[in-house]
Amino acid sequence: MEKNILADHARWPNLEDSIFKVGGEAKKAIEEKGREKIINSTIGALIDDDGKLIAFDSVYDTLKNMDKRSIASYGAIEGDKDFLEGVISKCFGNYRPEGFIRSISTVGGTGAVRHVFWSLLGEGDYVICPNWYWPAYMTMCEEFNRKFKTYEFLDKDFNFNIEAFKLALDYALDKRDRVVCVFNSPANNPTGFTIDDSMWDKIIDIIKDRAKEGKYITILLDVAYIEFAGDGSQKKFFEKFSYLPENILTTVAYSMSKSYTAYGLRAGACIIISKKKEIADSVFNSMKHSNRATWSNITHVAMTLLTEIEKDKEKSKSYKDELEKYRIKLQKRADAFMEASKEVGLITLPYFGGFFISIPCDGSDEIAEKLKENDIYIVANKQGLRFAVCAVSEDKCRISPKLIKNAIDFINK
Ligand code: PLP
Repeated sequence: MEKNILADHARWPNLEDSIFKVGGEAKKAIEEKGREKIINSTIGALIDDDGKLIAFDSVYDTLKNMDKRSIASYGAIEGDKDFLEGVISKCFGNYRPEGFIRSISTVGGTGAVRHVFWSLLGEGDYVICPNWYWPAYMTMCEEFNRKFKTYEFLDKDFNFNIEAFKLALDYALDKRDRVVCVFNSPANNPTGFTIDDSMWDKIIDIIKDRAKEGKYITILLDVAYIEFAGDGSQKKFFEKFSYLPENILTTVAYSMSKSYTAYGLRAGACIIISKKKEIADSVFNSMKHSNRATWSNITHVAMTLLTEIEKDKEKSKSYKDELEKYRIKLQKRADAFMEASKEVGLITLPYFGGFFISIPCDGSDEIAEKLKENDIYIVANKQGLRFAVCAVSEDKCRISPKLIKNAIDFINK
């Protein structure tokens, strides 16, 4: 590598964000043709039927009434005490696993993923992840010099591909002693897929079997969309992570972005679950060090919001009602999309909740390009197309599958 002012490890090309790019094109089309004509399925946030970002009243009314000095002040480096307790009960609901549990505040779920990749792996160790994934995982692996290995997410019957997972885990552990297994479930981005409870038993059995002496396996549960994945019972799987062997650590990346419509407040937590207190404490200490070294402390007001809403019965009820209202709205949009897909024979991956539905196909870039002619803006990735039901009205969700099917048939004829 030719020398220049940048250190070798920090030389990256301009990170081309294809989602923002196609989102920008959709915006332009809306300005030219009007909102009604355009289907913008690119945005990864809850959008109302009139095209406006949904920001929960229960959250932002609480914010408006906060003391300005509290908003202006710093939070604690590890996160405020009430927040750290609140986030654990909020995340697990009625299904708190047993064992020693600690949490640490992070800049969104992103910060939690960052800390796990940093603290539980060394350079050259593997992160293993299904091949339908949130691209930031790979960017973080590049940044910290971790290896990123993907495996086929679903088998031919659209079940979690346990065999592929097993092979990837064996590969990583054959080469190295540490591995992080990422599971973005329930309500995976980009597919809406959720790993069911019986499959979790199989996954955990395999992990236990592979956790031989001298090997360290970290499970990372990225639950960014969990509040939009069911009525609360979707959290039952958390109980399965009780008292796993000492060399298996469970971590949870919790995000306030979607659950509180607080994307820009940049708040979340990494929750640490271990059989042994000393292990949970040592991981916490490592991550607290990382907090100080990277962002010092997170947005104070976001932590206060979560605690104020949790501890005030009335606020907590309005928040729950609002969340439920939008969860149902999202479900209706997804139902409309899935029903229409069935009618026209468009194959989608199974959807169980969350913001997105995915359509597996070849030639996704050309198809996405073709769809622009029909005023649909959609995200193309390596495996197919990602349709954001979070951002498209029910009516438009109903008409989209036919247009997508036509474009696929046209490109792949
Ligand atoms: N995990 C997944 C799968 C996501 O899609 C996102 C955001 O889009 C995140 C984590 C992190 O979000 P944030 O850092 O805003 O909490």
